[in-house]
Amino acid sequence: MTRRSLSILGATGSIGASTLDLVRHERGAWEVVALTANCQAAELGRLAREFGAKIAVVADESCLPELRDALAGSGIEAAAGAQALVEAAARPADIVIAAIVGCAGLEPTMAAIEQGRVVALANKEALVSAGDVMTEAVRRCGTVLLPVDSEHNAIFQCLAGNDVADVQSITLTASGGPFRDWSIERLSVATPGEAVKHPNWSMGAKISVDSATMFNKGLELIEAYHLFPVGLEKLRIIVHPQSVVHSMVEYRDGSTLAQLGPSDMRVPIASALAWPRRMDTPCSRLDLASIGELTFRAPDEIRFPATRLAREAAEAGGAAPAILNAANEVAVAAFLAGQIAFTRIAAGVENVLSSYAAPAPASLSDVLAIDREARIHAREMTEALA
Ligand code: NAD
Ligand code: MG
Repeated sequence: MTRRSLSILGATGSIGASTLDLVRHERGAWEVVALTANCQAAELGRLAREFGAKIAVVADESCLPELRDALAGSGIEAAAGAQALVEAAARPADIVIAAIVGCAGLEPTMAAIEQGRVVALANKEALVSAGDVMTEAVRRCGTVLLPVDSEHNAIFQCLAGNDVADVQSITLTASGGPFRDWSIERLSVATPGEAVKHPNWSMGAKISVDSATMFNKGLELIEAYHLFPVGLEKLRIIVHPQSVVHSMVEYRDGSTLAQLGPSDMRVPIASALAWPRRMDTPCSRLDLASIGELTFRAPDEIRFPATRLAREAAEAGGAAPAILNAANEVAVAAFLAGQIAFTRIAAGVENVLSSYAAPAPASLSDVLAIDREARIHAREMTEALA
């Protein structure tokens, strides 16, 4: 078997760790090119040594001395800053795993796409913000985006061998998050500690809060809208607390295909890494008899307005999804810092969406400008709410 090469943007995060764990199980099959992180220099240096990476990059330039120390004598290149991150993402590799959290991952992800690299996309915020700018670049550069997000990976698998013209509907499943059954009164006093404790998945802090507010499903609705061109009206959301059915595609003949699996991100990551083949994984296998029951219910958009806001932003199109995403990133950071109440996250995002508008972005720099501007509005808003 020929060795394949990969780079991981966001190697020190939860998705980065799951990806490297799969590589660890198939050491001989992979050559690691670039590993990146925001700052965790000691951890990044350790990973770069373990996997024999060619280059390690920290986005935060103040962390470069620590990275140099961590890599001393290894012969592995150390670099820092936004430009170094973009250059590392553009390096030749058979597959680039986009696993940075937030719109911070947009520029390096676009750099990989512009070089025609196959991109395994976990970084949903980048696609939500850039939308057509990203999908148009994917087309122009003749490459593919392989969805890593478990729902989109499930849909991708259920669409294989079919024509999107025959799709009647696509249903994204949502666990409902840790506050699924909480009252509005209880939600208003939810703490960051409670929000990051997800019942089914172990993930980074930002996506855990998104899961609790249901913004994660809102972002995923917009992500699906761009990945699977069936039209917004054919995209649905259903709450499925067990997180066993990862999503479903219904066809015009009445057949519904679903993908099932354990709540382990290594499964969708492996599906992207091996695509169009399959690879072995060390994951536990689905045991339906011990799970016993799979349940489903409609989402409650009164307690969790995020999916409504995301659908409205997708319908409005243009700059709205980038504004929604930026406002949510700022609001989540403010919530995690103890500055605003949990229920103010969605209220704040709605406020920014109704008070700030921008022309539709036509380029990457337009998207970045909208993101910057929306963050300024969102910070003013969170300060007012604090
Ligand atoms: P995480 O917080 O665990 O890791 C984020 C990674 O990005 C880290 O390596 C961090 O160093 C890096 N990073 C953070 N800020 C950065 C910046 N400003 N510049 C450069 N690098 C930066 O996050 P995660 O849970 O691994 O999620 C990563 C992405 O994958 C998110 O977009 C998330 O929505 C998506 N995703 C995650 C999961 C999951 O199970 N964790 C599932 C589906 C999708
Ligand atoms: Mg998901």
